[in-house]
Amino acid sequence: MNSKIWLSSPHMGGTEQNYIKEAFDTNWIAPLGPNVTGFEKDIESYLKEGSHVACLSSGTAAIHLALVQLGVGLNDEVLCQSMTFSASANPIKYQGAIPVFIDSEAETWNMCPNHLETAIKDRIAKGKTPKAIIIVHLYGMPAKMNELLAVANKYSIPVIEDAAEALGSTYKGRQCGTFGDYSILSFNGNKIITTSGGGAMVCNTLEKKENTIFLATQARDQAPHYEHSQVGYNYRMSNICAGIGRGQMEVLDKHIGLRRSMNTFYKEEVFNGIKGVNVFAEPNQDLYSNHWLSCITIENDAPFSKDELYNKMLEANIETRPLWKPMHLQPVFKNALYYGNNTSEELFKKGLCLPSGSNLTQKDRDRILEVVSCLK
Ligand SMILES: *Cc1c(COP(=O)(O)O)cnc(C)c1O
Repeated sequence: MNSKIWLSSPHMGGTEQNYIKEAFDTNWIAPLGPNVTGFEKDIESYLKEGSHVACLSSGTAAIHLALVQLGVGLNDEVLCQSMTFSASANPIKYQGAIPVFIDSEAETWNMCPNHLETAIKDRIAKGKTPKAIIIVHLYGMPAKMNELLAVANKYSIPVIEDAAEALGSTYKGRQCGTFGDYSILSFNGNKIITTSGGGAMVCNTLEKKENTIFLATQARDQAPHYEHSQVGYNYRMSNICAGIGRGQMEVLDKHIGLRRSMNTFYKEEVFNGIKGVNVFAEPNQDLYSNHWLSCITIENDAPFSKDELYNKMLEANIETRPLWKPMHLQPVFKNALYYGNNTSEELFKKGLCLPSGSNLTQKDRDRILEVVSCLK
């Protein structure tokens, strides 16, 4: 049997272990140290725009601490993109708050500005002004930030930007992860770069960064003994993990180039000329996607169905996966409010994610091509 081709697997650059060795040599085996500080600096200079980065144990922890700092609490409402990974929405529940889900638009598959405004007006009319808006850049595709931020600003509602999948993507030349009142990144094993597990909060002031670190390290007040006046969390990143991250930053742009070339491969070689199959790509020049995952939608007039392609790939030991199932369709959120017109449901029905890693070989590409040529 051929080895498994994954959607997205870790791809080391080669220098990661030097940073880890240094941590061992200097005994910085702790959730702080030179790699943590160094990794934060690396991300700050990559993102620019005066960003201040706090490395955390996961992207989910970052979303949680963003909600905590925005004062989201019991029975507050938070607007969240429905089509996303559950980690975008779960922290709303951690706070005892209420998620209200917003549909996507068809161009970027991210939050629709019109549905967002409809939802805000309706929630305000019902006496429940939303406390925050969680916007996601799915699969690395930037959301329509100008339009979304205009709505958020009009009603003075803070934005949490979930850029977990979008490190290195840009919107009008500006890095994703620099648009929110709080923005978050993830370095989980399947993301564009990995620290084995980890995340970061990107802040637009040093004060927010310092407060994030304070909360992430058990909220210890200034005192010789342990003194606490707030509830704290144990959410800081390990200095070992951060070492992996520093090595990964050295190859980030190269790996984005390779992911983008996978997208070109699907567009120009695999699905070129196949009726009813569309490779998801930027709708215009303002958006630049890291193409973390390459995705397709399959219409009814295509020569094969989504399930056929999925099963043929599975038989060939190639992983594919349906798009994110919208949160308002998930059993865990079945009673949640939803504003939209079924764009995300439609995408979920007809879309598939394809192997997209920066470490895929020509032989892997040939195997993928082979499966599709037998179907068309
Ligand atoms: C991966 C991911 C997260 C969560 O990040 P973790 O580091 O795995 O906690 C949040 N949102 C989106 C959209 C993601 O893809």
